[in-house]
Amino acid sequence: SEALLELGALRKHFPVRDMLGRSRGAVRAVDGVSLTVPRGSVLAIVGESGCGKSTLGRLALRLIEPDAGSIRFEGEDLRALSAAGLRARRREMQLIFQDPFASLDPRMTVEAAIAEPLRLHRIVPRGGERARVAELLERVGLRPESARRWPHEFSGGQRQRIAIARALASGPKLIIGDEPVSALDVSVQAQVVNLLGDLIRDLGLTFVLISHDLGVVRHIADRVAVMYLGQIVEEGPAAQVFAAPRHPYTRALLASVPGTGVKTLPIEGDVPSPITPPPGCRFHTRCPHAEAICREQVPLLEGFAHRAACHLQDRLPPAPALHEADAG
Ligand code: SF4
Ligand code: MG
Repeated sequence: SEALLELGALRKHFPVRDMLGRSRGAVRAVDGVSLTVPRGSVLAIVGESGCGKSTLGRLALRLIEPDAGSIRFEGEDLRALSAAGLRARRREMQLIFQDPFASLDPRMTVEAAIAEPLRLHRIVPRGGERARVAELLERVGLRPESARRWPHEFSGGQRQRIAIARALASGPKLIIGDEPVSALDVSVQAQVVNLLGDLIRDLGLTFVLISHDLGVVRHIADRVAVMYLGQIVEEGPAAQVFAAPRHPYTRALLASVPGTGVKTLPIEGDVPSPITPPPGCRFHTRCPHAEAICREQVPLLEGFAHRAACHLQDRLPPAPALHEADAG
C-alpha cells in the first residue's frame, strides 16, 4: 500500500566535547536508517534504551534536523519545507511522550489543554470547542465532566488518555508514540495500548510505536523494525519477525518477553558506546554466533519484505518457536 512516511538514509550524530571543550567524537544516534511506513499501518520500532529510536522518531517529524538523509510525508520532502510549510504539516503529525506531564501543562484544565490545538489550527468554529473536547474525551474513554478538572487529579493512565485526546484534536494522519505506556502499571499498559489500537483502526491513522518492550508491541504492530546502536538490524511484518526472527539480537529481545515460550540465552553484556561502535557487525561483541567475518565486515540489510542484517542469517539454527498459545 501507499507510503505515508518514508525515511531515506537518515543520519544524526551528536558531537561530544570534554570539559575543556575538545572534541571527543560524536554519538552516532541514528546512523543510516531507511524505513517506509505504509498509510494506515502500525510500525513498531524496538530496541534497548540508547539505540537511537527516540532520536529517529524526532527526526521523522523534523523536530530535530538530520545531518543527512530524506524525510518524505505523503511524498512531500519535509526537509525542503519552509518554517510556515512545516507548521502547516505539523498538525498532521503528533508525538505522544512517555510522561504525559511532558505534554500537559499543570496550569491548564483538561478542557484548555485539549482546546488549545483546536484554536491554534482553527479546527472548529468559535464556540464549538467545548462540544469537540467532550467528544474527544469520550473517544479516549473519559467522561465529559473531566474537562473541568486538572491533570494532577488523574492517574497516570488517565493522563495518558488526555494526552492522546490532545494529540487527536488537530486531526493528525500520523502519530508517533515514544514509549507511550512505559511509565504506566502493567495492567494499565494493555488498556492504553488497546485504546491506541482501536483509535488507529477507527480513525484510519498511521502509528509509529517506539518501545523497548516487544511484549507491548506484539498485539498491535503490523510491522516491526529492530534497532541496535543507531541502525536497523531487522525489519518486517510483525507476524514473521515474531514467528521467525532472523537476527540474533531480535531473538535475544524476544527471549526476554515473558510468555512467548522462546528460550534463548538473554543478551550478555552492556550495549557498546554509540560514540565508538564496534567494527563490522555492531552486535558482534554480544552475539553468541559471532565469527571472524562479523568483526570485519558490516552486514547489510538483506531481503525484501522481511530484512535482516546478519552475515549468518541463513546458517543460524532455526529460531525457537513462538507459540501464540503461550502468549500472555
Ligand atoms: Fe551475530 Fe555475526 Fe550475525 Fe552480527 S553478523 S548478528 S555478530 S552472527
Ligand atoms: Mg528513548
